[in-house]
Amino acid sequence: MNYPAGTAYIDGAFVPMSEAKISVLDWGFLHSDATYDVVHVWKGRFFRLDSHIERFLRSADRLRLTLPVSPGELARILAECVARSGFQDAYVEMVLTRGASPTFSRDLRDARHQLICFAIPFGWILRPEQREAGLSIVLSDIRRIPPDSVDPTVKNYHWLDFVMGLYDAYDRGAQSAVLTDAGGNLAEGPGFNIFTVRQGRIATPDRGVLRGVTRQTAIALAAELGFPLEERLVAAAEALAADEVFVTSTAGGIMPVTRINAAAVGAGRMGPVTRALLEAYWARHDDPAWSTSVDEVLSGN
Ligand code: PLP
Repeated sequence: MNYPAGTAYIDGAFVPMSEAKISVLDWGFLHSDATYDVVHVWKGRFFRLDSHIERFLRSADRLRLTLPVSPGELARILAECVARSGFQDAYVEMVLTRGASPTFSRDLRDARHQLICFAIPFGWILRPEQREAGLSIVLSDIRRIPPDSVDPTVKNYHWLDFVMGLYDAYDRGAQSAVLTDAGGNLAEGPGFNIFTVRQGRIATPDRGVLRGVTRQTAIALAAELGFPLEERLVAAAEALAADEVFVTSTAGGIMPVTRINAAAVGAGRMGPVTRALLEAYWARHDDPAWSTSVDEVLSGN
């Protein structure tokens, strides 16, 4: 196994990525019984760290997982992972697993929850040099796990629907997939939310999806830029008829989708609404309202 550069925090200590190992008996591994969050660092600054930590705490609470450190300590651990790695741009993940029972009982309430954090190099769903060409996706027939089975607002590792969706995409010559719900409405993709634009009006699904921090950022920026936006059920057919489609993720920001099911979206290149939002998104990365330097977090300011 090859490991990327980076630093992890595990069992209360900082170690190189290659030494960050969990027990195969951890229910996080055996049952995907875990929650996680990912924040990025860009040019030495965390982007919307508070929103990611808030969502992580809420997810943990919903899954009856207990964070062994305070939110302030968690922020410092994340910053320390970045600082020790020496990264200016980084992908920073926090994971809380159910762990296992010290007596190996099957009673979940006996488990000791495990906090793992790590910083690795920035990961992109679509690299900046590929932005003009945009992403090619398929609308997969695979249904997203229904929200009344697994709450999608709790960030989770129930990814087998996405994994099979990705293979569906590869088989059809595309890069990624968006899954739909039983009613044929758009849900989300492996690691991203989706938006459609038709005659200047933006729409994004309001149920069956993670409240992505990048999604919330795109919604706020759309309001600032004066683009009308609706959070509502969005039929899959609307993506096929859209002038523009874009997806949002911490792993890459706001990214144009230029092909769906092998057909061009609109003119087949990044559209003006996507471009305006994408530029505003990256421009906000040194705004103190939405970003905090790694050093400031380390010094507790
Ligand atoms: N939807 C799913 C299922 C995800 O896993 C992610 C991120 O990993 C997103 C949406 C986008 O969320 P965010 O913008 O907070 O990265």
